[in-house]
Amino acid sequence: MNNRNVLILGGGVAGSSMAYYLTEKGYDVTILEKNSKVGGLARTCFYGGHPYEFGPHIWFWPGGKEAPINDTVVRLTNDELYYIERRLFTYVEPDNRKYRYPVHYRDVALMPEREQIERELRENRDQQLKLIESQLPEIGNCKFAEYFTAAIGPTLYNKFMANYTWKMWNIPGDELETSMVWADRFQSEKAAPTTQKVTGYDPLKFDDHTLGKGIRFQVYPKHGWNAVWDAMVTRSTVVRDSVVGIEDEYRKPYVLTGSGEKYFFADYHTVFCSIDIDRLWGEDALPYTGRMMIPLLIPGLAHAFPEGAESLHYSSCEFQTRVTEMKVITRHDSPDTLILIEVPVLPGAAKCFPSNTLEYALEHNLFAEKAYPQQSAQAFDTYEAYVERGRKIPNLRYVGRHAEFKYWGMAETVNSAYEKSLAFPQV
Ligand SMILES: Cc1cc2nc3c(=O)[nH]c(=O)nc-3n(C[C@H](O)[C@H](O)[C@H](O)COP(=O)(O)OP(=O)(O)OC[C@H]3O[C@@H](n4cnc5c(N)ncnc54)[C@H](O)[C@@H]3O)c2cc1C
Repeated sequence: MNNRNVLILGGGVAGSSMAYYLTEKGYDVTILEKNSKVGGLARTCFYGGHPYEFGPHIWFWPGGKEAPINDTVVRLTNDELYYIERRLFTYVEPDNRKYRYPVHYRDVALMPEREQIERELRENRDQQLKLIESQLPEIGNCKFAEYFTAAIGPTLYNKFMANYTWKMWNIPGDELETSMVWADRFQSEKAAPTTQKVTGYDPLKFDDHTLGKGIRFQVYPKHGWNAVWDAMVTRSTVVRDSVVGIEDEYRKPYVLTGSGEKYFFADYHTVFCSIDIDRLWGEDALPYTGRMMIPLLIPGLAHAFPEGAESLHYSSCEFQTRVTEMKVITRHDSPDTLILIEVPVLPGAAKCFPSNTLEYALEHNLFAEKAYPQQSAQAFDTYEAYVERGRKIPNLRYVGRHAEFKYWGMAETVNSAYEKSLAFPQV
């Protein structure tokens, strides 16, 4: 092979892991990253000495340490990992009560509408309260509200999900597609091939109360995530520059950067885009809901949340969606507590903050206008139109949550890079 040069746009989780797997195979990788550090939303920052990421950043993926991408995390952390048991609650303001998250059957008895909920639950369940699959809409082929109202009934849906979903993604449940929001995640939990149909997912829990129980590899690195992303790019050249968009010069397309550099596609074996696919074309058409993270240090309070909980979800119409006590994850030893309050923001929100606080928020990974893709049928059509537009550049590929427009965690993102790297021969 003559050309072993690869260009990667964006050095977040997707860009760094793509660089890692390709440099392992002998490719020469250049990354264009607009920030001073790699790691994107999963970069570890500090407030009052407490480590945090942009919201909780726990790695979870099926299989044990030997599963290929879990093995990557083990190797790059020297196996210095905390194994996490996730305890989460939902605070329901009208009931002035916290319940377990995900919704637990035993908590129904504590709810004011328990009789109505019991009646609704039995509509699509057998005597043992197991879901009757033939009566449920098919995940991946129905809207979010359709599946969840069938599985848990309208009362539980309205109490825990209707407002939360709207607030979380700024899209009502009857427009939100289940195809990518849920299907990917459940397929990866079962380590199933991506073509397999997802069936029998029950949002109501009967046995345990920890999220992701059964996934043996659910971890947080003892020294935070930065060492992992830094190690992934050590064999690459990271250029601090921002991608402005794709331009054309006499039918020779190139990537133009903020500093005016031109990176011609023809000079590379492959160009991987891991930034927002619409930004790649200098546009802003894909709908996202952003987040402002508000770090709240409470001096002299060793733990803030009940029963060792990591996060509380707020399911009504209050400003925050989720509040996380970071120490429960990072195990930071301190007499104080750091709480991260997650507040949804919409496009243009940056204009509303005083410029010094916004600068601080951007520098410290506390603000992202594009955090959660709004996965409606219309948004998918817009996404597909961008993919179509890029087909005229034969060596352009996409990797990661922004470029593939997926509701993905770190592991799904790294897995996408790993799987793509398998098509590249050793050079
Ligand atoms: C609130 C929240 C909580 C989360 N919690 C978890 C969790 O607990 N566990 C988990 O596994 N995942 C979690 N995630 C998901 C995780 O953050 C993503 O899966 C991961 O960050 C996706 O990686 P990425 O590289 O696709 O995107 P990003 O991490 O966003 O990286 C994109 C990179 O591209 C760069 N970039 C963007 N535009 C340009 C440009 N024009 N030019 C140059 N560079 C550019 C950015 O600076 C960034 O470095 C969470 C996400 C959010 C929003």
